[in-house]
Formats: sequence, C-alpha cells, structure tokens
Amino acid sequence: MGAYADARTRSLTDPSGFWLDAASAVAWDTPPSIGLDDSAAPLYRWFSDGALNTSVNALDRHVEAGRGDRVAIYYDSPVTDSRRAITYTELRDDVARFAGVLAGLGVGVGDRVLLYLPMIPEAVVAMLATARLGAVHSVVFGGFAPAELAVRIDDALPTVVVSATCGIEGSRVIEYTPLLREALALAAHRPDAVVIKQRPQAAASLVAGDVDWDAAMSTAVPHGPVPVGATDPLYILYTSGTTGRPKGVVRDNGGHAVAMAWSFANVYGMGPDDVWWAASDVGWVVGHSYIVYAPLIAGASTVLYEGKPVGTPDAGAFWRVIARYGVNALFTAPTAIRAIKKEDPDAALLAEHDISSLRTLFLAGERLDPDTYAWASEHLGIPVVDNWWQTETGWPIASNLRGLEPMPIKAGSPTVPVPGYDVRIVDGFGEEVDAGQDGAIVIRLPLPPGTLPTLWGDDERYVDSYLRTFDGYYTTGDGGYVDEDGYVFVMGRTDDVINVAGHRLSTGAMEAVVASHPFVAECAVIGVHDELKGQIPRAFVVLKAGAVIDPDLLRQ
Ligand code: AMP
Repeated sequence: MGAYADARTRSLTDPSGFWLDAASAVAWDTPPSIGLDDSAAPLYRWFSDGALNTSVNALDRHVEAGRGDRVAIYYDSPVTDSRRAITYTELRDDVARFAGVLAGLGVGVGDRVLLYLPMIPEAVVAMLATARLGAVHSVVFGGFAPAELAVRIDDALPTVVVSATCGIEGSRVIEYTPLLREALALAAHRPDAVVIKQRPQAAASLVAGDVDWDAAMSTAVPHGPVPVGATDPLYILYTSGTTGRPKGVVRDNGGHAVAMAWSFANVYGMGPDDVWWAASDVGWVVGHSYIVYAPLIAGASTVLYEGKPVGTPDAGAFWRVIARYGVNALFTAPTAIRAIKKEDPDAALLAEHDISSLRTLFLAGERLDPDTYAWASEHLGIPVVDNWWQTETGWPIASNLRGLEPMPIKAGSPTVPVPGYDVRIVDGFGEEVDAGQDGAIVIRLPLPPGTLPTLWGDDERYVDSYLRTFDGYYTTGDGGYVDEDGYVFVMGRTDDVINVAGHRLSTGAMEAVVASHPFVAECAVIGVHDELKGQIPRAFVVLKAGAVIDPDLLRQ
C-alpha cells in the first residue's frame, strides 16, 4: 500500500492508535493514554486524559530547543508602511507578559477573552496569551458591525475584551473604538475590562475600565503556562449558520494541537525550516489554524500580512512578499487569484520578482474552478492544490496530501479525503450513492481530532445542526460527488449559506437585516453567480403598502 492508503486505512480502522501516534509530535504535561473517547457519543472527545498548554507548543518548546532566534512572525503591513521580524523568543516574552496583563484583570482557566483586532502582531500575542492562561479566546473579525459584535459578546460572555483603535483597509482608516463602544452598549453582558492597543493612525481616549495595551505591557509580570485538559476549550469561533444566530464553533486544546501538527506536515508538506504564508485574516478559521497555530506549533515562520494582497498596493503584492521572505508555500482563496488574473491577465508582474522559493500554492475557502486552476498552474509552474474544509473542521477534509503522498491533481477536485475523515456521499434518505453520482457530502462519525466537539454552550444545537439529518454522520452542508478514482468534487452548499469571495454568509442573517428596514414587508436573499467573487448576495424585497419607492431612501 502507498503511504496515503496506509494512513487512511489505519485512521479509520484504528483511530485511537493512529492519532495517539500523531500525538507524539506535541509536548504534553500529561501524555494521553486514551485516543478516542466515545463515552458520550455522539459527542466524541480525543485524548481525554491528556494535559498540555497550547502556547508552550507554539512557543516555549521551540525556544527551549535552541530555536529562539528563528523568526516566528514576519509582520508585513503595506497599509502602514511597516515591517517587523519577530523571533520565537521575542514572541514568547510578549505572550508571557500579556498573559500577565490578562491574569491581572482576572482572567483564569476557562474564562473567555474576546479579541476585536486588525492584522497586527498584538492579535497573535493576545490569542497565545489567552491560551497560556488556559482561557478561551474568541476572535471577532475586525470591523464587524456593532450588532454582530454584541451578539458574540452576549454569547461568549468575555471577562476581558481586547481591541485596537483602528484597522486599515487600503487607504481607509476604520476606527474600531466607536464600533466597540456601540457593541458594548448594545450587549447585555459587561466585560470586566477592555484593553486597547493605541495605533498611531487613530487615537482614542480611554474611559473607565479601559486599559492601555502599551502601558499595561510596560509594567506586566510575565505569566507561566497553565496546563489544561486536552478537551478543555482553546477557542470559540463564530460562523454563519442558516439562521441569523451565529454558531460558536468550539475548538479544544489537545486534539487541535495534534491536528495542526499533523496537517501542517502531511497535508501541506511544511516543516520547521519553512516560511509559510496564509494570506487570510486571524478573524477567520484559516487565520486561526494556518496563520497562527499550525506554523507556530511546527516552529516554522509565518507571514502576518496586514492589507489585502490584491489591489493593496497592487496585483504584484503576492509575488513581492513571496520574494521578500523566501516564502515556500502560499495559502489563499481562489477569489484572490481571480482578482490578480483580472488585473494582470498575462502575469507580467510575476516576472519582476524572484519567487523560486515557492513550492506550492494552496487554495481553499470556495470551489476552485478549473479556469482559475489552469491560469495559476500555467503561470506559476508549481502544484496548485485545492483543499476543502470549513470552520467546523478547522483543517482539511479533502486535499492532495503534499507531505504524505502527493497525487495527480484533477482540476475541479480537492483530491481525496484526508486520513481521519470517512467521507461519504448520500441521497436524501441517507443511502450511499454510486461513484459519480451527486448527493450530500457527509462524514461518518467520529470526526478526527481538532474538529468541533460541540457548539459553545449548546450541545443540543450542535446535534440538531450537524448530526440529526443522517444518523451516524456529520452533515457538512456541502453537496458533490466522489469519482471512480476516489476523488472528491465539492460543488456547493445544500443549505441557505452562500459563499462570497471565500467568505461564508448566511442568507437568513442578511434577510433579518433587510427585513428590519421600516419599509420592508417581506424579503428573500439569494446568492447569484459572480465572475470574481463566486457568488454575491441579492435581496428580493416586497415593500409595505404606501412605502415610497425611492432607491435613495431604501438605502438608508
Ligand atoms: P468557512 O466555514 O467559512 O471556511 O466556509 C466553509 C465552506 O466554504 C464549505 O462548507 C464549502 O461550502 C466552502 N468551501 C471551502 N473550501 C472549499 C473548496 N476547496 N471547494 C469547495 N468549497 C469550499
């Protein structure tokens, strides 16, 4: 058998053995003896007798192994015209200090810390400092509207909120402080403190209960790592469901660390000496898994890029950053490649940069259409690898496994199920269909380590949303087929979620916003095809009798 077939078979027939072996890549305070814990099935747990600290895995152990001078983060911010290389020792020290700040504000094991931050190193520091205390972070995408932020504050009930005075989009400075203050006014829950990083682009005057990031850090006492149970939560990440209420996807500490280490090596083929760039945002799951946790747990260098790589400042930004840091693999969404293709169809800008370090381009977040695949393959001359997953799983369900056993690529397919995921295609009655036939893509339980064990504070909603439709299976919400060679083809959502430029949006949530307009009697939001973004939302609206049909007013 080849390495893939071997790993796949063992992961499904002996999941505990397979993942306990993989767990040896992680530093444990108490190594687990249990792999799969099915005592509360269908709520499965992994490594339930193990204990560890995730920030130790991402930082301290590399410093202790003599790799403290290695660059952990290349922060590159064309929007502020600044760049910084942060070593593992420096990052560990900042994280320990910020953990001291959080502990001083009363954050302890299991408490939540909500982060509302742009793509600055402080975002990574705050995530890892929360993890260091055994607390639970919830990163809300910077610039999310106050109402969205308020819903998340009321669900996560954070002890502390960490924010910055602004984010920057292109040449626009988006002030976060007024958005945060409005969200806090809307929310029923009151955090004990708000920590604010003052950025030079926007000053904010602090109010009672606010803590200035820099002032607090200058006097902070470094805090050591607190070991937690493997099944204790590391973070909550909210994602769109089919209703207006977001789902708080929970990630645990142990399974997550193991899945990050395993996938970075086996799916992405990356090692500790590599430079890796996931061009996403820490507010999304790709940012959590592959800007922050996987590369740092592996001891590699990760690029933290503030700004949209396309259009800011130009379509050559990708190639310039790759050349600057000797990036070995880039992970982005097909939309970004389509945007470059539109601005620079012959890839003339590529020739201006030496990108010979780049081994692989990984694309995910939405379907990789064969045209985009062909354009990228032709111009880059390296493998262009689609990988399919979702916020809930935290790491790829299907991919070409570049580290384990690279396989021939078929345009339009993310290749094969990743070991640990027992992918099946079923019809509406839950019966498996033949190769080549369309159906719902489901995963036979249990899901592997690192995937969501539940939704925050709501086991019932977890079961209802994902496990109820087909008994014994996790419903991905995607439809597609598997061909005769076992290649998976993911064609689109089967529910009321649409995908806009690689971002998942709930039509239900958008309908709720449109329906709140005083003129609107009824509305429906659907996704329509868009050349660049894959889909864009369109609202159909029935106005109330007597409403003035003035497009300007309707926009209010
Ligand atoms: P999110 O949870 O925001 O990452 O969105 C996950 C959803 O995006 C999946 O359920 C799919 O509908 C879609 N998606 C992500 N990656 C791919 C891919 N490689 N091919 C097709 N669809 C994808």
